[in-house]
Amino acid sequence: MSNRTRCACRRCTIRSLMGPAVIITVGVLFLLDQMRGGYFSFGNTFPVILIVIGTVSLASTLAPMDGHIDSSYPPVPPPSAPGAEQNLPQSPLPGQGQGQ
Ligand SMILES: [Zn+2]
Repeated sequence: MSNRTRCACRRCTIRSLMGPAVIITVGVLFLLDQMRGGYFSFGNTFPVILIVIGTVSLASTLAPMDGHIDSSYPPVPPPSAPGAEQNLPQSPLPGQGQGQ
């Protein structure tokens, strides 16, 4: 899933924190709902999720891209290329190409 080379620039690092930040926020909001309820019920506090998403998005947009590695568009092999199924151990890999 995350086998591709990951960029270590500020922007990509902050962007990768979006998922954990949202999950932690939702967890804290549900915890407040369970502990306090009433004013802190999830129905009242859910906009905090939008604020967190917007803050992380804004921070990643403003972050510098020094040393950015664009790995979002890897070279797509043809559908029948042997390199497309690297995770199959019993693949005979015929014609691996460019043998030494
Ligand atoms: Zn990057």
